[in-house]
Amino acid sequence: MNLLRGALRTYAWGSRTAIAEFTGRPSPTAHPEAELWFGAHPGDPAWLETDGGEQSLLDTVREDPEGQLGAAVRGRFGDTLPFLMKVLAADEPLSLQAHPSAEQAAEGFAREDRLGIPVSSPIRNYRDRSHKPELLVALHQFEALAGFRPAMKSVELMRALGVSELEPYVGLLSGQPDADGLRALFTTWITAPQPDLDVLVPAVIDAAIEYIRSGAKVFAAEAKTVLELGERYPGDAGVLASLLLNRLTLRPGEGIYLPAGNLHTYLHGVGIEVMANSDNVLRGGLTPKHVDVPELLRVLDFTPASETDLRPQTTNDGMETVYETAAPEFTASVLSLDGDRLGHEVDAPSRHDGPQILLCTEGSAVVHAKSGAVTLNRGMAAWVAADDGPIRLVAEQPTKLFRATVGV
Ligand SMILES: [Zn+2]
Repeated sequence: MNLLRGALRTYAWGSRTAIAEFTGRPSPTAHPEAELWFGAHPGDPAWLETDGGEQSLLDTVREDPEGQLGAAVRGRFGDTLPFLMKVLAADEPLSLQAHPSAEQAAEGFAREDRLGIPVSSPIRNYRDRSHKPELLVALHQFEALAGFRPAMKSVELMRALGVSELEPYVGLLSGQPDADGLRALFTTWITAPQPDLDVLVPAVIDAAIEYIRSGAKVFAAEAKTVLELGERYPGDAGVLASLLLNRLTLRPGEGIYLPAGNLHTYLHGVGIEVMANSDNVLRGGLTPKHVDVPELLRVLDFTPASETDLRPQTTNDGMETVYETAAPEFTASVLSLDGDRLGHEVDAPSRHDGPQILLCTEGSAVVHAKSGAVTLNRGMAAWVAADDGPIRLVAEQPTKLFRATVGV
């Protein structure tokens, strides 16, 4: 078992304080820090602290797949760690995006290879052959847009804004309040000529300002989101798309699970993401990065989903709360040590014999594995190889460890 140092990604939408404070570094930082990657992704692997210095988790897994991943995981996923865990801190909205299914990713990767687009090119959509189901669990209050909400609810929102320019679109959706209607409306907006958007988006922004001024409450969060997005991307169809998506506020510990084809964007907050080890993103707007609307439309799932559909069920097994998701690549859970679990060694439930990544989000614990022990304070992580578990824990104060393992 080793301490694991995450790989820091500095994107413009990140925070100058959140990740630094979480990991106990001085803040504000010189650059906005957006993501801290804990995994063995070739693009940015995490680092094991060993007696001989730092060693990349990618190399460690490559050199000893049997010991690090275990026979069962190798049999299912080959010689790579199938999941990636990230701490994510968004001070500003991310791009409007969706991720492909396994089939779409394999086909897209082969197609872009045939077209001769280098994997590192900024216009490349498919950087690997994997799907990318993702789970996000809030560390602090987290704001997001995700999944097309039931269509009549969006009709209600648009009517409440009372924008005359929106009327034909409200008519379209109320005449067909289902996945097909949502597809037709979203496609119309996302492919609309810029001069049309330059009229429509400001009209919606003005209506949102009026709505907030009026003191109306029902769609206040949605109206504020229109303003927030419109301020940064004044002529972007993504501002209109926000009218069709569930507007979620997650409290600490609450999660959302985003399967293939779910249109989403994170707006603000700090959370932990666990996903299949992939970088496949299709963007539709709200970003200066590469946007590929036709490809996004190919993978989008327009089936309306309510907020509850997006929130994973949790099951509690003594000290462990598991987020139930369908992804075979990962299982995410929280190990909570408190009450009569403090002050003595306790066995952590062992769901299988694969590798695990532990991240302390609160308190402090000593983690014991076969090879020895490490102390994890808030913001510190450990890698437990398959041949090094199961683990035992000792904490003197209420402590939470976020755990990512391979799915069962
Ligand atoms: Zn995403």
